[in-house]
Amino acid sequence: MIVVKFGGTSVGDAAAIARTAAIVRGRLDRKPVVVVSALAGTTNQLIEIATHAAGGQLIVALTILEELRARHFAVVDELLAGDRAHAEVATETGALFDELAHLAEALSVLGHATPRSQDAVAAMGERLSAPIVAAALARAGIPARWVDARRVMATSDEFGRAEPKADEIALACRAELAPLLREGVVPVLGGYIGGTASGITTTLGRGGSDFSASLFGAAMDAEAIEIWTDVDGMLTADPRVVPDARLIEHIRFDEAAELASFGAKVLHPSTIAPAVKRGIPVFVFNSRRPEGAGTRITFDAPRLAVRAIAGRPRTVVVKVRSPRMLARPGALRAIFAVFEANRTSVDVVATSEVSVSVTLDDDQHLDAVVAQLSALGDVTVERGRGIVALVGAGLGESTATMARALGALGDLRLHMVSLSATGINLTLIVDDDSVHEAMRRLHRAFFAAEAA
Ligand code: ADP
Ligand code: ASP
Ligand code: MG
Repeated sequence: MIVVKFGGTSVGDAAAIARTAAIVRGRLDRKPVVVVSALAGTTNQLIEIATHAAGGQLIVALTILEELRARHFAVVDELLAGDRAHAEVATETGALFDELAHLAEALSVLGHATPRSQDAVAAMGERLSAPIVAAALARAGIPARWVDARRVMATSDEFGRAEPKADEIALACRAELAPLLREGVVPVLGGYIGGTASGITTTLGRGGSDFSASLFGAAMDAEAIEIWTDVDGMLTADPRVVPDARLIEHIRFDEAAELASFGAKVLHPSTIAPAVKRGIPVFVFNSRRPEGAGTRITFDAPRLAVRAIAGRPRTVVVKVRSPRMLARPGALRAIFAVFEANRTSVDVVATSEVSVSVTLDDDQHLDAVVAQLSALGDVTVERGRGIVALVGAGLGESTATMARALGALGDLRLHMVSLSATGINLTLIVDDDSVHEAMRRLHRAFFAAEAA
């Protein structure tokens, strides 16, 4: 079997869903499990609904809700007009919007939203889209059936960023999906959403539908996991920043994972791990140009010094200076224990005899972190920084590449440099407002020159 995941723009309107149906039809002999995102932009609007409702602006929240309702009904009408399933899907869709309106009202009465209630709202996008896509596939003659992802994607109750439970997901896949596949039915599930052991709705974090696809793929030992999106595949840089970014036809798992974690939004950063565990190739394709070659992610792409460039703005750098303490054994452990205790993950690290510098992408618990680190040394916090990463499996062996990278940055100010232990990425911390310029300069240095 294979898993085929369609992102928001690939199910954004009736025409996109029709293209999706054609793609699924072309794969019926490979027993696809279909994973879909919410209709493009829906999750953002749902989060706005929760924020406005909890902030006392119920009318604003309900206005957004009505926009979403109209959009979903327009899609249902266009795809299913005259179909037997139309009435049933319209009733279900209406019921979900009523549930959403009740949730919004409840949040406005409470005057605040807990992570749990935020998940209940945010999950509505995929609860809405998956049954609609399933009905549209069925109408197109594909034997598709909607399966509630919350029954299959077993997670912890860390709302907003729930941890998947691989063993339970595998059991649920065996019980809920395998029998359908045996009958030749195509299961259609929402990505991004899950459920706790007691049946409470959770989400895997923004962009999490890719992660859902790879978790289902790993649980079912899929032959392949296909991510269908709105660009031709993984590119040598974010095309919104570097318009002449090029398609990467073949990339290694470790490189793709690094790119995702350093800002290549095309894949959720957790997508690669479950696929690697089972050695399942991941493909990225453009649903608007299904004939394209796409990107193949496996273990064995040839080693290159630079495969691609990624960037991520809004990074905080924390520096701890302590000449006496850092010379002592256990000093680093003490510092990292502070981050761990405050559930703050560290991205890039650089150390010297007297100081440790780290970057954080999440500064939620920064105050507590700084207070506790201050017991260990002088702490400075630098906001307004960004990360730019050069990724390539052969990078560590190429001093010429590192020299060229630093040279390409020219007069851009550099705050930290770190080469990963595996030599697969060179990360550069620059000013937040020069992240894009740095990406363009690096791209020009490594890709424009190569093409010339
Ligand atoms: P989906 O809704 O299909 O999940 P996303 O918006 O999450 O799509 O991800 C696709 C987007 O990722 C692209 O439109 C592109 O702008 C962005 N992106 C960032 N970096 C890269 C990259 N290196 N390669 C391809 N796309 C990238
Ligand atoms: N719909 C969710 C989001 O926008 C998940 C996804 O699209 O991957 O974050
Ligand atoms: Mg995405």
